[in-house]
Amino acid sequence: MILVVGAGFSGATIANLLADKADEKVLIIDKNSHIGGSCYDYRDKNGIMIHAYGSHIFHTNSQKVWDYLKQFTDFNTYMHKVIGIIDGIETHIPFNFNSLYDVFPQSYAELLEHKLLDNFNINTKVPILQFQQQDDDDLKYLANYVYDKIFYHYTTKQWGVSPVDVDDDVTGRIPVYLSKDNRYFQDRYQGIPLNGYTTVIKNMLNHKNIKVKLNTNFSTLDLKKFDKIFFTGSIDEFFGYKFGQLPYRSVKFKLETHNKEFYQSNSVVNYPCNYDFTRIHEFKYYLDDKSDKTVIAKEYAEHFELGKNERYYPIPTDETAELYHKYLYEAEKLKKVYFLGRLGDYKYYNMDGAIARAIEIFESL
Ligand code: UDP
Repeated sequence: MILVVGAGFSGATIANLLADKADEKVLIIDKNSHIGGSCYDYRDKNGIMIHAYGSHIFHTNSQKVWDYLKQFTDFNTYMHKVIGIIDGIETHIPFNFNSLYDVFPQSYAELLEHKLLDNFNINTKVPILQFQQQDDDDLKYLANYVYDKIFYHYTTKQWGVSPVDVDDDVTGRIPVYLSKDNRYFQDRYQGIPLNGYTTVIKNMLNHKNIKVKLNTNFSTLDLKKFDKIFFTGSIDEFFGYKFGQLPYRSVKFKLETHNKEFYQSNSVVNYPCNYDFTRIHEFKYYLDDKSDKTVIAKEYAEHFELGKNERYYPIPTDETAELYHKYLYEAEKLKKVYFLGRLGDYKYYNMDGAIARAIEIFESL
């Protein structure tokens, strides 16, 4: 018997592959009262699919991940766009050529567009901290504008530190995009599963060899009874925090139902300059749910505290890498325990990355 700890995408993928391709008997447990991990969604009383842990948009360039997931669901053709409100003006995030015309007078936007085209290749993405390394006065002004208006406050709210103290991989996720493409992602495959994420994961776990047990913490089981263990919880928790806790950022959502068809113009609106929330999600956009009411969630970032809130984002710094490696070294000594997922690998995976990692582990067995 194999134990999988955690029923999010990482756990569901490894459980499904072991059960289906290797004919193993699998017990998958989750401490929560639902499957799906942080992709968990549900329809509320208005028929609106709520992403309980914030907006999740599936996107991937991996043919392998796409083909794998398509066994369990169809996707709609939703392509994610993010609007940001800067000094009261709605514009596109990532900042792109269209944003120039939203926030600057036409003639100055044209000048900046020409200078950008002279200095960069069209359709390239430049991380903000690199974009700031400019000689030209106008481009330097633009870079500082984007840094101040889009990155500085949002990142300070989100991570609790200034962007220069956040890992390049994180700030690089939202570059300046030298393009008129307003989409948030350019991946070949994108969409929202037609019946939601929880149903996808339910389908992955719906197998004669898989038993699901909810409201169950791994510490209550006799781990010796299992031939192999796949652990998608936080690696420091597995080892009883013996070297100290790995830090995480967490988020809190305040849900509101409004008596109108739409609250805002888009599924996600970022507030990079004002307010103490980072963004507002409006869920009915994802599956085009029809209702004369709408449900929104204001997202507030906070530090993770054990027992108080959930782990969302690993914090990549030299210090945390060192601490994580201490745990990884312990993990490598265990022959039958495998760690995976955002928390198991202490890595900022997107959904496709988490699935790819689980497939990779399965193939390496
Ligand atoms: N970011 C920002 N301003 C924005 C959007 C994102 O400064 O309007 C930065 C911020 O540091 C954030 C990171 O880019 O944590 C990654 O954003 P993404 O939308 O990928 O984060 P996620 O949806 O995973 O929370």
